Amino acid sequence: MNIPSSDIDKLTGEAGGAPVNFIRTIIDEDLRSGKHKTIVTRFPPEPNGYLHIGHAKSICLNFGLARDYGGRCHLRFDDTNPVKEETEYIESIKDSVRWLGFDWGEHQYNASDYFEQLYQWAEELIVKGKAYVDDLSAEEIRAYRGTLTEPGKESPYRNRTPEENLDLFRRMRAGEFPDGSRVLRAKIDMASPNMNLRDPVMYRILHAAHPHTGTAWCVYPMYDYAHGQSDSIEGITHSICTLEFEDHRPLYDWFLEALEIYRPRQIEFARLNLGYTVMSKRKLLELVREKLVDGWDDPRMPTIVGMRRRGYTPEAIRAFCDRIGVGRSDSWIDMGVLEECVREDLNEKAPRAMAVLNPIRLVIEDYPEGKTEEFEALNHPNDPAMGTRMVPFSREIFIEADDFMEDPPKGYFRLSPGREVRLRYACIVKCTGVVKDEATGRIVEVRCSHDPLSRGGSASDGRKVKGTIHWVSAPHSVSAEVRLYDRLFSVPQPGSDREGPDWKSFLNPDSLRTLTDCRLEPALAAAAAGSRFQFERQGYFVADGADSRPGAPVFNRVVTLRDSWAKTK
Ligand code: ATP
Ligand code: MG
Repeated sequence: MNIPSSDIDKLTGEAGGAPVNFIRTIIDEDLRSGKHKTIVTRFPPEPNGYLHIGHAKSICLNFGLARDYGGRCHLRFDDTNPVKEETEYIESIKDSVRWLGFDWGEHQYNASDYFEQLYQWAEELIVKGKAYVDDLSAEEIRAYRGTLTEPGKESPYRNRTPEENLDLFRRMRAGEFPDGSRVLRAKIDMASPNMNLRDPVMYRILHAAHPHTGTAWCVYPMYDYAHGQSDSIEGITHSICTLEFEDHRPLYDWFLEALEIYRPRQIEFARLNLGYTVMSKRKLLELVREKLVDGWDDPRMPTIVGMRRRGYTPEAIRAFCDRIGVGRSDSWIDMGVLEECVREDLNEKAPRAMAVLNPIRLVIEDYPEGKTEEFEALNHPNDPAMGTRMVPFSREIFIEADDFMEDPPKGYFRLSPGREVRLRYACIVKCTGVVKDEATGRIVEVRCSHDPLSRGGSASDGRKVKGTIHWVSAPHSVSAEVRLYDRLFSVPQPGSDREGPDWKSFLNPDSLRTLTDCRLEPALAAAAAGSRFQFERQGYFVADGADSRPGAPVFNRVVTLRDSWAKTK
């Protein structure tokens, strides 16, 4: 299913406030019936990469529910796999959750906190005859598992006695056996139509140090064994996860029932798929490793750190997550929906400024050399509280090259020979001629005469001047690098099966265009890293957090003023 932006509002019910969704309906009922007095949710990332916009959906959902219902949300690192996790990822995940505006308070946990308890429970299952040590190799286990159409085959080790299993499992823990030589499996049903129930592996031997538990363990629990019990230990009331875990739920429930411990309710929802990008951490890592992007925080990346550097606001991302809602059917969301949320937020917040990205010099012949004036400019057209600033003006200014045309088509209301245009805040100019480069014939300078503006902004004699353009005073302007970002991929679903393994061949070659020697109004020289502006008539821009230097700013385009992509498609 593809959901264009125009249909999103219809899907999510009322705008503003918390949108109704099926998970809230379940929670309302659980609170009304007295099943729970308060709710506890969790966000359980595996610390093996940076968070992306899909995670943001899960974060906004879990933390948002806790906030709205006065409950709490835990941050749990699912660090069952010792070899993959890195501290760098843990710090960045915490940072991203905080930046999105959420707080787990004292409730930060690690699945590895529960290793001892999980181990004890495994022994309990062995004693109950519900788990066994298997000596088959990994390949044999796979072969014995059967297929979706054929039942699996029981392992010859399946009927070991609890005593023998317990002894072997303890010796596995003690480090007596090499990696891969034995596993602990749940004894469920090799003929189950649900493959997850065909005696899944609970523990494997891995002589590897763990970032948290060091060398204390050489047997590690599988995710499917650890996950449900971790939720149970923490008293999670509503364990919310994506749809691919629906088939795992019977297994989680089987463990919890066999152990006779508290059983959270698992609720699955459809993951976010966003057009023109990829979201699997493995693929994002590949882009970073192969230097196809400039790191995890490249402004084109769908990572939280990337979107942050791009100039997206946490408010816009939260609004996006509210707007797309929570459902049970897989859908692709158009990137335009996210961009529209960014635009709506920045339209309110971003002060206006004038910047000329592709400058051409304009000389006002009847304006005295050496004279400087200042005009008062509004920082926001609809918000007087944002104040005004003074913008210097002089005989030589820069305008956008495409605001001048020597031979304009009908309906072109900007500058052309013999025609007039309004310079925002300053005056009206009339083009009296051009100067061309003798060798190339290219226009290098536009020559004008000028006429002051009357109070209301019209010409002094009241005649109509249709076009208004932005400008910066040449001697006062600041030179800057400006980076124009576009979609990372040139096809809507680059990572999907439909596009196959060649997903990297769909990278958009024009996803980054770097403009140098753009000309900005002088106030922008001092823009603090991360501050956002609307460059009038151009779009929203943010002072780059990594590359801006005092006096030599670098700006990233956050988003265009309108959805230019929709037009070109
Ligand atoms: P990836 O497939 O990108 O590696 P993952 O699901 O393995 O992602 P986890 O760290 O396990 O990443 O995810 C943490 C939480 O975020 C999980 O609860 C998962 O369901 C949720 N999540 C991950 N991707 C999305 C998505 N695209 N939409 C919604 N929730 C997501
Ligand atoms: Mg995962």
